[in-house]
Amino acid sequence: MEKSDVVIIGGSAAGSTAAISCKRRNPGKAVTVIRQEQQVLIPCGIPYIFGTLGSPQKNLIPDTVLTSNDVNLIVDTAGEIDRERKIVRVEGGNNASYDKLVIATGSLPAILPIPGIDKENVFVIRKDIKFLQDMLAAVNQAKDIIIIGGGFVGAEFADECKKNRDNKVTIIEMLPHCLQMAFDDEFCIEAESILTSRGIKIIPNQTVANIVGDKKVTGVQLADGGHLKADVVIISIGVMPNVDLAQKAGLQINRSTGGITVDRHMRVRDDNDILACGDCAMKVSYFSGMPVKTWLASVATHEARLAAANLFETRYPGLGTLGVFSTQIGDLAMGAAGLIERHAAQDGYHVVVGTAKAPSRHPGGMPGAELTTVKLIFSKDDGILLGGEVSGGSGVGELVNVISSCIQHGMTAYEVSLFQMGTHPALCASPITYQVVNAAEEAVMKLH
Ligand SMILES: Cc1cc2nc3c(=O)[nH]c(=O)nc-3n(C[C@H](O)[C@H](O)[C@H](O)COP(=O)(O)OP(=O)(O)OC[C@H]3O[C@@H](n4cnc5c(N)ncnc54)[C@H](O)[C@@H]3O)c2cc1C
Repeated sequence: MEKSDVVIIGGSAAGSTAAISCKRRNPGKAVTVIRQEQQVLIPCGIPYIFGTLGSPQKNLIPDTVLTSNDVNLIVDTAGEIDRERKIVRVEGGNNASYDKLVIATGSLPAILPIPGIDKENVFVIRKDIKFLQDMLAAVNQAKDIIIIGGGFVGAEFADECKKNRDNKVTIIEMLPHCLQMAFDDEFCIEAESILTSRGIKIIPNQTVANIVGDKKVTGVQLADGGHLKADVVIISIGVMPNVDLAQKAGLQINRSTGGITVDRHMRVRDDNDILACGDCAMKVSYFSGMPVKTWLASVATHEARLAAANLFETRYPGLGTLGVFSTQIGDLAMGAAGLIERHAAQDGYHVVVGTAKAPSRHPGGMPGAELTTVKLIFSKDDGILLGGEVSGGSGVGELVNVISSCIQHGMTAYEVSLFQMGTHPALCASPITYQVVNAAEEAVMKLH
């Protein structure tokens, strides 16, 4: 039996971060990670295995992140949490006892409840090296690839599956636009035009009724009766929290999100020695405090740091899930933080919007300059920043993080318009046209 002060089940984004953060805060404590897989994939890099990277082996989190921090590792499947004896039982028998337990068992792909999903060459997206190797081999052979679901993962997959291949890639999306859960329409349309310019066909407002073929998939039947040829189908319709272990241990599951019920300190209900973080844990909105289904690696690591901080004493609560993310389709990068305009309106806010477009370097002829658009959404009543969306080039990822910081600090349109930035011709937009500040100034004028 392995004796540890802290046992963490799960070794991906949440589990690894919780272990490192826990060791940083408590160097004297023994910390053990139990995880199923021999090698851990970088989950967000999975689409890039299919084009840019070319192999799952090029998309791994190195174990040195754990070993260099003196974290013990058990590679095995945890089968039971014995809360009375404070033991995690694993299939191989090398059980681990704990003072404090962190559950970071993540998520599993959502399954589409239609006939034919068990046919050969129909794939969900599993974080599993062998599975992805087989999927890559099938994609390399395929002439007709159908992707069900045009969220950011589906769009990234479509783009990567098309790369350097003579094939037909089609996205079937049930909503009017791809990426519609994450962006306002004008950004979705921009992304769709890039996808189509790269030869990807998009079928919006459509669902798949049936996957057809004998043993192997040969096509899909659409809800409107249409039929499309396919030799590979990729189902990308989201994930479900992986809570079996927690449920068997009698921990409470939040009904509306399917995640383990946790408080703002990431502590589960009715057991002071267990915390949960990452995709398996319930989240609440930063804005409304209501449960939300936001499953992101950035959220998982944020929660893991919170869990580590609150393991042995109550230090500080989380503020709720803001939801910050970015994606890249072709050369177009897009990102969003907080509420998009559509969601803000659905939540009952009266909003004021400011938009600014300018090259990402100055002058616009500098190498690497890309036209970058920033849209900021403010509450009309108090002027506070609710969210932002950005499209452009490689700077988008960090620009959206700047917007997130402004939201987290409760900045108003007036304050964002006077935000003190630093610029350089080769690195940033001009200080005259700096998009975040100019979008805020436009909103200030509308608020007057
Ligand atoms: C294709 C794809 C692309 C994505 N892109 C992005 C992106 O660009 N940005 C972003 O922020 N997010 C992205 N995400 C979401 C992100 O991957 C997840 O939010 C993140 O992986 C959650 O981390 P986690 O540690 O909570 O869970 P997981 O990554 O699911 O890891 C769970 C861990 O628990 C282990 N485990 C589970 N059960 C047991 C058990 N019984 N015993 C032992 N070990 C167990 C697993 O083996 C694994 O190590 C993407 C997801 C996918 C699928």
